[in-house]
Amino acid sequence: MKCMNCGQENKDAAKACKKCGRDLTIPPAWFPDSKWHLRTLGIIYACLVVLYFGVSYLLRKLPRPYHIRKIPVEMTPWLRPGGRIVPDEQLRAPGEKPEVESPAPAKK
Ligand SMILES: [Zn+2]
Repeated sequence: MKCMNCGQENKDAAKACKKCGRDLTIPPAWFPDSKWHLRTLGIIYACLVVLYFGVSYLLRKLPRPYHIRKIPVEMTPWLRPGGRIVPDEQLRAPGEKPEVESPAPAKK
């Protein structure tokens, strides 16, 4: 067994270093190496990426009008910056098809 303090080679059964007298029964302190840092940070980043895409996917699945990322002015009139009306195309989620308006009821 090598002494952690001075590097002196001691017997495996030794309780203390024969050179410096350090207690050899105490296990050496653990210090994370660069491999440990890379692995831990990789796990953390992977979890964050999975969380980000998972939350994005779930937010896209929300029913109308909560799927809208940009809140239209009509929903928050108290925040209206000058009375500008947002066109209907900007209110749709990306990839969403415009709603087909039902034909007007036939006049009798
Ligand atoms: Zn020693």
